[in-house]
Amino acid sequence: MDKKERDKLLKLICVSIAALATVIAVISLNVRGNRMDEVRMSIEEALDTLPKEYMEVVTADHEALEAGQEEEDLLDEEEANSEETAPVTAASSTAGKRAIDPTEKLVALTFDDGPGMYTEKILDVLTRNDSRATFFMVGYNIEKHPERVQMVLDAGCEVANHTSNHKDLSALSKDLIESEVYDNEKRLRDAGAEGELLLRPPYGLYNDTVKEVVKRPMINWSVDSRDWKTKDAKSTVKEVKNNIRDGRVVLMHDIYPSTVEAVKELVPWLIEEGYRLVTVSELYEARGEELKDGHIYRYTYTASEFMDSEGAKK
Ligand SMILES: [Zn+2]
Repeated sequence: MDKKERDKLLKLICVSIAALATVIAVISLNVRGNRMDEVRMSIEEALDTLPKEYMEVVTADHEALEAGQEEEDLLDEEEANSEETAPVTAASSTAGKRAIDPTEKLVALTFDDGPGMYTEKILDVLTRNDSRATFFMVGYNIEKHPERVQMVLDAGCEVANHTSNHKDLSALSKDLIESEVYDNEKRLRDAGAEGELLLRPPYGLYNDTVKEVVKRPMINWSVDSRDWKTKDAKSTVKEVKNNIRDGRVVLMHDIYPSTVEAVKELVPWLIEEGYRLVTVSELYEARGEELKDGHIYRYTYTASEFMDSEGAKK
């Protein structure tokens, strides 16, 4: 059996385990009864352990993106010459630490798998709307365009770690987990990132070894926009609109043109609905939740829960 076949077999085993975990989650969901909040949480937990399709689609996309690199460079050049896309320059005026009112409705948009050819367009929309987001960047894309790290920072957005090679960390040895996480952290630092760097494990997958080895807070999501699956702006918008609540973390990807179109509609809509768009770190800090190393986060308090816990009236 050569390496390719072995990798294939390994992948198949991972996918089978994930499918089994999902079945168990669904069964336990049924057994546990009908309380709505329990059901909701179980579905979300199942979501975290349901990477099969996500893994297949995203892996294929990444391979296609690798192959299409030349095309990307060409597009970048075209864009540089086009007058239509204004460069993001206003950003620096809003960069730096901001005061966030914790009683406001807050939402953290997150963009994974870049930086890529669409990152700048998304930053442009955010900047125009005085909004911020978090970008979980993957090593092979940082290598191609390290200057995009600084571009994200200049827009006041948060740069975060999505590993070197986008592998399922729960399938790796301790040594490999370490290199996937810390090599990429170094890459981000070399490109200008400072302070604590949050991690999102690829596919949202982790196990006890990952939690032990990764001495960083790990951030998954509470709303999956499914942009990776539909690659359709309308359905991405709909998915977010239907599931957004105060305190939620939204999963998106800055590697699809459809996501840019969705963001153009979503950002002004969220603001109109009374949300403030913040980074993941701003969200947790505003709600007084300290991010701990080796912990997985998907949620934060809502404003009303926060006010309860602070003893303020609802
Ligand atoms: Zn990813």
